[in-house]
Amino acid sequence: MVLFEPNHKVVTWQKRSFIAFTDILPQISIVQPARYTWIMKDLAQANIGKFADPALTAKGEDRASVALNNPETLWFNTGTLCNIECLNCYIASSPSNDALVYITADEVQDYLNQIKDRNWPIKEIAFTGGEPFMNPQMIEITRASLEAGYQVLILTNAMRPMMRKSVQNGLLELNTNYPGKLTLRISVDHYDPALHDAERGAGAFAKTVVGMDWLQKNGFRMAVAGRSVFGHSEADSRAGYAAFYAEHGYEIDANNSGMTVLFPEMDETIEVPEITTACWEILNKSPDSIMCSSSRMVVKRKGAEKPAVLTCTLLPYEAEFELGTTLEAAEKDVALNHPHCAKFCVLGGASCSA
Ligand code: SF4
Ligand code: SF4
Repeated sequence: MVLFEPNHKVVTWQKRSFIAFTDILPQISIVQPARYTWIMKDLAQANIGKFADPALTAKGEDRASVALNNPETLWFNTGTLCNIECLNCYIASSPSNDALVYITADEVQDYLNQIKDRNWPIKEIAFTGGEPFMNPQMIEITRASLEAGYQVLILTNAMRPMMRKSVQNGLLELNTNYPGKLTLRISVDHYDPALHDAERGAGAFAKTVVGMDWLQKNGFRMAVAGRSVFGHSEADSRAGYAAFYAEHGYEIDANNSGMTVLFPEMDETIEVPEITTACWEILNKSPDSIMCSSSRMVVKRKGAEKPAVLTCTLLPYEAEFELGTTLEAAEKDVALNHPHCAKFCVLGGASCSA
């Protein structure tokens, strides 16, 4: 399996046996790339002989693929730099990891133009990082996406980068000029400050609450990304988030899975089945329900001349899932040739849009 080698230091890694889903990806926290090889070794042991051939499974059956039938969301990774360094960040963001560099407003504008040229029925432009508000052109980028007529979703930790005066002023202007079009999805790993801080560092919860208070006070539409790593039932988690929102006066629906998104954790070392073309009928599932039938993600790799379009937000370092530099190139079908495809998307039903 070919991997991109991100150029960053080895970050703290708590040796857990699961892959954590978090704010970035929009949804899935894969692993810190410096540890990718280690995880892939476990993966290889769990799935020996599998996920090798894009066309055929280990048993020689036709591998399932997904066509881009309804591109509704175009994601941009704004860059992997982040103001903090969480324990289980899917993309190993930190104050020094620039494996994915800041995408520029001109580059985003080029893809917005391509959407029109290709007649993609995009409804939403979504941004993930790193921390998107670390990107110095984030307000300009957001403005371009709103001007083009799209809903905009920004995943953020709502901490210091978002709270800088220039960013606040930009957000206020955009929320006034494009009412109801902008949503900020805040990462709140757990409504208990101690559990949130265990992942994100001491004092992180309090700083995020300051940011959320500011967003609420100024009439921004907020969503929350939480995690299910803590072992609660979904009902208990949603009740906990509801109490947290009520305590702070946040207008966020804890029972709406698009507004309070609870990302599952995934055991990377467990064997997963490969998905064949016969699985759709067996599982009574349509390929059109899989995330890569309705979205793509643009990233800019350090040292690359141009941004690249990936199949989805879940596999930012897998060469096989990089489709080319243009939206036209990204229209090809995606072979479900990774354990995430099976475990997370087909069997788990992952989706990241609001
Ligand atoms: S806040 Fe930064 S380090 Fe933490 S999960 Fe989000 S992007 Fe990763
Ligand atoms: S992990 Fe696989 S199935 Fe899921 S969205 Fe990405 S490419 Fe598609």
